[in-house]
Amino acid sequence: MAKLFEAKKLSAFYGATQVLFDIDFAIDAGKITTILGANGAGKTTTLRALCQIVRTTGSMTLNTGAGDVQLVGKSTDAIVRMGVAHVPDGRGTFTTLSVEDNLKLGAYVRSDKDAVAKDMEHCFQLFPRLRERRTQQAGTLSGGEQQMLAISRALMLKPKLLLLDEPSFGLAPLIVAEIFRIMRQINAEDGVSMLLVEQNASLALNLAHHAYLLETGTVALSGPSEQIKNDESVRRAYLGY
Ligand code: ATP
Repeated sequence: MAKLFEAKKLSAFYGATQVLFDIDFAIDAGKITTILGANGAGKTTTLRALCQIVRTTGSMTLNTGAGDVQLVGKSTDAIVRMGVAHVPDGRGTFTTLSVEDNLKLGAYVRSDKDAVAKDMEHCFQLFPRLRERRTQQAGTLSGGEQQMLAISRALMLKPKLLLLDEPSFGLAPLIVAEIFRIMRQINAEDGVSMLLVEQNASLALNLAHHAYLLETGTVALSGPSEQIKNDESVRRAYLGY
């Protein structure tokens, strides 16, 4: 399986405080990889490290199609331009802008205007509620709709890799099921690789192909999702049966 991304001995720091300790993980091209873990394990920090928003040491290589590029030391803007789109925790939509303007902003690095218009149409097909609300201010959308907008805005980059931070957070189960069904569709039909960070292990393991379990900034376990699902310690601690 071709690797899209590989982190080796990745550490991350907030000031003098180290929160990731020499972790290794990889993302296969075209697949969904998930990072699970309890509160404070370092999941969000891992995504921030990938975007170079926190101080990191170690190595992170992205296969851009034209060879491997080292991400450590690059600017966040440069990483976005390589096709890494981040849907942060708290969603990060521009609340005073309309749905449509949020989507346009997602494509800010692109110059292929016709393709951008097509991709906006594709987002509206994936999430018809956004089409109905295209002129509405993002801040007045429901939580679920804001999450749909955040994912769509990231898709407008036409990403090679989509980073998703707890897309289920604070949403009703029916909305979560809808969003996860569409994430599966985006991966299967559009071939977008994903790194999904989730506290809801059951949801994440049902969607992802491969999983890593983080415990206090180290990788405690990793493997195909089916295998992790059947691990007794994971079942007891994270799946609740
Ligand atoms: P959660 O699901 O609660 O967000 P997480 O696994 O995503 O948990 P992180 O947010 O990555 O965990 O946090 C890892 C550790 O880093 C925690 O101990 C947290 O207190 C600390 N931390 C997170 N953000 C900062 C920050 N801005 N400054 C200092 N420490 C931070």
